[in-house]
Amino acid sequence: MSVGASFLDQVNRAFDRAARFTPHDPTLLANIKACKSLFYTSFPIKRDDGRIEVMHAWRAEHSHHKLPCKGGIRYADNVDDHEVQALAALMTYKCALVDVPFGGAKGGIRLNPKQYSSGELERITRRYVFELVRKNFMGPGLDVPAPDVGTGPREMAWIADTYTQLRPGELDALGCVTAKPVSAGGIRGRVEATGRGVFYGVREACGVKEDMKALGLSPGIEGKRVVVQGMGNVGYFAAKFFQEGGAVLVGLAESEGAIANPKGLDLERVVAHRREKRGLLDCPGATNLPSREAALELECDILIPAALERQITAENAPRVKAKLVVEAANGPTTPEADEILAARGVTVIPDAYINAGGVTVSYFEWVKNLGHVRFGRMQRRFEQGAYGRLLEAVEGVTGRRFSAAEIERVTHGASEEDLVNSGLEETMVGAYHPIREVWKRQGDSMDLRTAAMIVAIDKVALSYEQLGIFP
Ligand code: NAD
Repeated sequence: MSVGASFLDQVNRAFDRAARFTPHDPTLLANIKACKSLFYTSFPIKRDDGRIEVMHAWRAEHSHHKLPCKGGIRYADNVDDHEVQALAALMTYKCALVDVPFGGAKGGIRLNPKQYSSGELERITRRYVFELVRKNFMGPGLDVPAPDVGTGPREMAWIADTYTQLRPGELDALGCVTAKPVSAGGIRGRVEATGRGVFYGVREACGVKEDMKALGLSPGIEGKRVVVQGMGNVGYFAAKFFQEGGAVLVGLAESEGAIANPKGLDLERVVAHRREKRGLLDCPGATNLPSREAALELECDILIPAALERQITAENAPRVKAKLVVEAANGPTTPEADEILAARGVTVIPDAYINAGGVTVSYFEWVKNLGHVRFGRMQRRFEQGAYGRLLEAVEGVTGRRFSAAEIERVTHGASEEDLVNSGLEETMVGAYHPIREVWKRQGDSMDLRTAAMIVAIDKVALSYEQLGIFP
């Protein structure tokens, strides 16, 4: 079985396990579970040296119960039809959990981006967009991509530009893709959003005293020993926010290896070292581990896999020492590993909830693109003025003069980034407790993944029931 096929099986098994706890009709459940549309294309591109190469690319739209569909585009050499379907299904459940009104989708091109020049990647990206548009698999009201492994704001800008070229005069065209650079219609705070959302979600989970006590941990993030696997977009920002929140980074892993220091690693020093030496190993103040996988087995409180699927397996799960496994990546824990971790009393905070910060802020970006105005632009100065007048009134009544610093703190009007981060925090905090309630209602017989899936299935089922069947 390919990695993608095993991954799809993994997502569907989680669905089936949760479906048994729901009251829904089996045909409705089967309809929710099935992928609605799957697009495959192959196309030639010209390499810089004149050779022609045939590319293989996919887009899966798992659910149309809410439109547009939403999901990243992955550039990796094991992308296949199963993998995009697995990731698209996860997107449906993720959007439902955080009340983002989209169906799930995912796309990918089978290539290792390190083996292509920037010009080649641009030609591949633009041709892929052309194929998606031709088949109605892209558009602000149809299907809106975002980054995933191997893609980032640069690719999103190429995607936006290609789409707007193909659709001249389409007023909402910029809403065709999210996580664009801010200057190309993006939103402040999107780059950090997934990692920041991971932090908010874990902080909320760690704030529940009785759950922490059951794990033998104190409440809060302060002093927690954390290991992060993957220092890409999600892993880097997750590590950064945990370090800023008072956690101690005791281990970091990348594709070239892993390093550790039980007293703590300085993230920015590690990043600077990696940039300079083109690798993580031999970093001052850290010990090299025998393999990159060894980081997953380090002594720590919180393990954050933030790289790829199927990293914690039946083979290494018995040696995982963390009390909390936080799935910043999609699908990093296999079903067999899930069972082993549960039996060992390890809590897994599932991907569908914990890495939903990215799609949440992508939703804000899409709303901004449709509104054609930056969040905060209309009210920021008005708020500053109102708070200023309030302070003057208090000064008048009390006779006390506020310092410049106090005035600045109170009269700060919300910027776009303030509003985005606040909306993200509200979303992650608000989404955790309904999942936890289902989890606790079932006693020890259920894990958080199953609880999250039940909440997601209930929401999607309600949509389908209300919409009815066409024709
Ligand atoms: P990325 O390409 O920016 O980073 C992935 C990193 O993992 C790379 O630096 C890569 O070198 C490293 N890596 C690969 N194999 C590894 C291994 N075996 N051990 C250690 N490191 C390894 O990708 P990303 O956007 O950060 O995505 C990471 C995960 O998070 C994926 O599962 C993705 O689906 C998921 N995710 C991403 C977002 C997002 O907004 N980007 C949102 C939700 C979920």
